[in-house]
Amino acid sequence: MPVWICATCGNHYPDTDAPPASCMICSDERQWVPPAGQRWATLAELAAAGHRSDIREVEPGLLGAGVDPPVGIGQRALVVTTPEGNLLWDPPGFLDEHAIGEVRQAGGLRAVSASHPHFYGAMAEWAHAFGADILVPEADASWVTRPDPAVRTWSGTLAVLPGVTLIQCGGHFPGSAVVHWATGAGGAGVLLTGDTIFVTPGEDRITFVWSAPNRLPLPEASVRGVVGAVRPYQFDRIYGGWWEPVIRRDARRVLEDSAGRYIQFLRGEAPGAPPPVAPPLPPVPPE
Ligand SMILES: [Zn+2]
Ligand SMILES: [Zn+2]
Repeated sequence: MPVWICATCGNHYPDTDAPPASCMICSDERQWVPPAGQRWATLAELAAAGHRSDIREVEPGLLGAGVDPPVGIGQRALVVTTPEGNLLWDPPGFLDEHAIGEVRQAGGLRAVSASHPHFYGAMAEWAHAFGADILVPEADASWVTRPDPAVRTWSGTLAVLPGVTLIQCGGHFPGSAVVHWATGAGGAGVLLTGDTIFVTPGEDRITFVWSAPNRLPLPEASVRGVVGAVRPYQFDRIYGGWWEPVIRRDARRVLEDSAGRYIQFLRGEAPGAPPPVAPPLPPVPPE
């Protein structure tokens, strides 16, 4: 039997005789079920429909593994490479031999992880291909749609590889996380955020969502939790869940300014409010 793939979110389910009645990810208030009802696919069906892996170098040391045309929510994976091994992050629901070959050439995988359950995708397939661990926040372990012996849970922060740290931020999901990659952006530091921190189209702002498709905002305490979780880390660039948009530089200032403005809106102190004369959030501690 094939692994069942939810056509809407791209998450994988075990190879049972028949697909589940529903997708627990899409049935949740943060996602959506098509008006015509739940649809399922398999890797073979997606390949037959013309989907192919799309592998690109995003910046030196960072490989992207997307799908063309996209499947599910359309995220592309990122592979952070280090001399000690590699981490794959936010895999979409489809992969093929080409993708596996390119990642093997880049040094294979030590671990696979994701920003949150919407982007767990083909985590198990990738882990099986390389004997890698699947790293899932304890807080979101019940959202794993395809349980696997390679799953390891973690909480708070986890040093996965030298200079590569998982940071649990909460917000969109209790276990919503980001990757801090210390040597990215030429040594200025990079965050890989999925939609834990949501990059907006002009590449000059970020936002926060409890549900993106259903347009539900994140409460102030959660926004402060996300910003506070990444504040101890040095970074200048933010990659979200898709090829674009990207906060290419000055990402710490963009994050702090955007969070302050977002909280003004939540409190009913915007629009039209003059920009705050003092930062609405506590200052960044010295590095
Ligand atoms: Zn789904
Ligand atoms: Zn999401």
